[in-house]
Amino acid sequence: MQPTTLPARDRRVPTLDGARCRGIFVEFYDPDGHRHGIPTYPYHWAPDGLLTRRQLRDKGLRPGGQHIAAQILWRRRKYIAVAYLYRIDLALPKRNATAAQLAAIGRALATRRTCPTCRTEKDYYIPRSAGECNDCAAGGHR
Ligand SMILES: [Zn+2]
Repeated sequence: MQPTTLPARDRRVPTLDGARCRGIFVEFYDPDGHRHGIPTYPYHWAPDGLLTRRQLRDKGLRPGGQHIAAQILWRRRKYIAVAYLYRIDLALPKRNATAAQLAAIGRALATRRTCPTCRTEKDYYIPRSAGECNDCAAGGHR
């Protein structure tokens, strides 16, 4: 079964962790879902790689079979609003994506598989937490 939340390191937002370390309470920042059940972020603070269904659609993508990976919570007057987030790396092209959208998706996926250090295109996505391929992260190929 494919895990649907981001890997633990990619779930964190360094700025918000920093605020927390300085004793600032950040409402709705719960990257491990301890309080809210699933990883949760304040409005505008979702980490890279997570998009709403609508944002996916604008890129010619759909969630595919994946479950909700995280949520954004924010306060409105009397209630708390929610937007659900999906992993872009698990998303699939919309069935009716245009040729231009498909080409853009192909380029984006190739970019995500290409290591910025050794410029090699791998058959897996470059982990955001490492920022380079597994070979480079292990200290080889430099
Ligand atoms: Zn590399």
